[in-house]
Amino acid sequence: MKRILITGALGQIGTELALYLADIYGKENILATNRSEKNLEDIGDIRFEKLDVTDAQRLHDLAKDFKADTIVNLAAILSARGETMPQQTWKVNVDGIVNTLEVARELGTKVFVPSSIAAFGEGTPLDNTPQDTIQRPSTIYGVTKVAGELLCDYYFHKYGVDVRGVRYPGIISHQTLPGAGTTDYAVHIYYDAVKKGAYTSYIAEGTHMDMLYMPDALKAVVDLMEADPAKLKHRNAFNITAMSLTPEILEASIKKHMPDFKLDYDVDPVRQAIAESWPNSLDDSCAREEWGWKPEYDLDKMTADMLENLEKKLK
Ligand code: NAD
Repeated sequence: MKRILITGALGQIGTELALYLADIYGKENILATNRSEKNLEDIGDIRFEKLDVTDAQRLHDLAKDFKADTIVNLAAILSARGETMPQQTWKVNVDGIVNTLEVARELGTKVFVPSSIAAFGEGTPLDNTPQDTIQRPSTIYGVTKVAGELLCDYYFHKYGVDVRGVRYPGIISHQTLPGAGTTDYAVHIYYDAVKKGAYTSYIAEGTHMDMLYMPDALKAVVDLMEADPAKLKHRNAFNITAMSLTPEILEASIKKHMPDFKLDYDVDPVRQAIAESWPNSLDDSCAREEWGWKPEYDLDKMTADMLENLEKKLK
């Protein structure tokens, strides 16, 4: 990677990825794009252009003018919001990937596309979920993620496009708030711990989902994109994870710093049903073997860092 265009760059992952890539590859080599300008202040003085990822011609023109050698496609509508607008979710999530892959084919760029634990569902083994297994998701978001995984493989095999990706679990971070997914509670719990000393969880006690701290999510992009292609047996949709969490596991970790922290529950049936259809814990051994995936943050290290940063940000 040398010159990188990011779509959806003003979201939870994109703002931090833009800054992270700018540190490594140089600010002048990053072009951040997004449909709206919300959170624009989060990317400092990195170059920004408005881009709706469904506009294939503008994506092509921006990538060509910028002489991008890599496109990171983060533009998406996430799981909980997706259920309120299925057709728009298909359009953004799937057309966005097709447009990105077409531009990559025409201009010869590399591509990074994240999938999600949402690509699993009915019939998937939920514990130690294998890399290659049944994928019958019940949400439109999950359907778009499976379609995206298949499209990425198709463009690699048919056209030789160097497209790579991971299946992210829930990402926990303190800079930009998440965009209406199902794992957002694991971010909100830290914000409310610092703001109010208490949190009401919309996910029920005992519901396991995989999570990852943002620094590891960012490092995964660079490690995978810079990996020796000869070692990649899979190219797309690598399972990656750092921890399998429930609300009460997070509570116990927060209590080590804030003994009076209180957690209660007001379960949202829509997001709870989505959570129950997703894996409890992923098997990420293919990512470990093929490109050296190894997260640096476990739960307690993440909790200490989240609380320290949010105390600075919110107080
Ligand atoms: P987000 O919702 O925070 O950000 C998405 C960004 O895309 C937003 O800035 C939004 O304005 C933008 N966007 C929406 N429609 C657009 C369009 N038509 N054209 C251009 N931009 C558009 O999401 P995120 O958490 O940063 O996720 C980025 C990617 O990672 C997505 O593919 C998502 O599915 C995947 N992912 C995220 C998580 C997570 O926990 N955050 C987990 C698994 C996978």
